[in-house]
This record gives sequence, C-alpha cells and structure tokens, in this order.
Amino acid sequence: MIKPNEPNCAKCPTQACEPLIKANEKPSLDKAPNFCPMKNYEGVLITALNEYVNPEVKEFARRASLQEFECYENTPSGLRTKNPRILELIEFSQKCGYKKIGLAFCGGLRDEAQKLTEILENNGLEVISVCCKVGATPKEKIGLKPEEKIAGAENWETMCNPIAQAELINTAGVDFAVMLGLCLGHDTLFIKYCQVPMTVIAVKDRVTGHNPLAVLYTSNSYYRRLMTKKGE
Ligand code: SF4
Repeated sequence: MIKPNEPNCAKCPTQACEPLIKANEKPSLDKAPNFCPMKNYEGVLITALNEYVNPEVKEFARRASLQEFECYENTPSGLRTKNPRILELIEFSQKCGYKKIGLAFCGGLRDEAQKLTEILENNGLEVISVCCKVGATPKEKIGLKPEEKIAGAENWETMCNPIAQAELINTAGVDFAVMLGLCLGHDTLFIKYCQVPMTVIAVKDRVTGHNPLAVLYTSNSYYRRLMTKKGE
C-alpha cells in the first residue's frame, strides 16, 4: 500500500523541481504536491547530494550531463535533438577515456550484437562480447519443467546465464559494460552481478522490435486495454 507521503513524481501536476526561472532565482516548493519527495525526504536528498562531493562521482556525473547537453543543438528554427543512443555511447566512451567495452547480449539479438560491435570497433573501441546462452546449461538446472521450455518438452533448451555474462565481463578488464536486449529479469541479475560501470543500449521486447514504449505511444488505440483497471 502506498503511503500518502511516498514519492509519486509520475503523478505530479506541477513539476516544481524543473521550474522555468532564471539561473539566479531559487525554485519554490509552494506548488509542489504533498507527495513531493522534496517536501518529505529532505534528508535523503541531502545524503544523495553529498555523494557528488566524491570527485570521481562528480566527474562522472558532469560528463553524463555534458553528454546530455551535446545531444541537442541550437538551430535558427530553435533547439533540436541530434545523436541517437549508439552515437551517444561512442561519444560518452570517448569522454570517459574508455578503451574496452564488454557487451552482454541476448542470443535473440546476435545480429544486432555483431553490428554494434562493428560500429564500436570502427570508432576505435575494443569490444569483448558475451551471449546470454554462454555455459550451455539446460534450463532444468534452474528448475524449469520440461513443459515450460519454449522449444518444447522433448528438446534441449539452454538457459540464459546473465550471472556468467557479468562474471566474464568483470574478469575481462573492460572499462564499460553495455547490455543489449537481455530479457526482463535476466537483466536484473546481470545488473546485480556486473561490477563495472554499465549502461543499457536496448531492452528486450519481443513484440515491439525492442521498443517497449511503443505500447505507451499506442495506449489510446491498439493497447487501450492496458489503460483499463483490472476488474472494470
Ligand atoms: S520532485 Fe516534486 S515537483 Fe518534482 S516531479 Fe516529483 S513531486 Fe513533482
């Protein structure tokens, strides 16, 4: 059960944390809703802000925000975006001085992994890559019943092994890990075990060409059913 003062930024009517004011003015909390964490969790925000005092964290955050800035350009017709995420990945790696990338990819996106590797290599980065099926371990090992295998009960099916992906990337001495299309849940394990800085280039969504937001963009039409409360 959500308590009244727990953060609920997704339902915020005012976005008081992002005011349209001048740099020398101070944001006001007057219009922030009662569930605003700036009103209820000041201590947590102070603790979080203190983390940026660490020079390494501060520099990483600075480069990330610089990267964000560089994804826009001013044109005579106004501010507009540029650079897709793959270009961002290259630029951010260059900014951070990364030389070696560890790519953890889903076997269903092997082709994409090959292309991404080629693009990164063309831009001066070394890439090691690990497929989710590494280890060739049968799904029965983690308790799947034969009838729960996609390939069918009578056939071999290799389990996804995100822990092995993470450990291989951890031991390869990479500067940055990149996750490509791991399944929901398998990605959770990869994130848990990966010990190097990491980012996600794409998440798995079998139905939408790995663009889960397509469901939101069509939630007034094809996916309207998801906007109805269960039981209505
Ligand atoms: S931080 Fe506060 S003002 Fe900002 S979106 Fe969340 S609730 Fe709204």
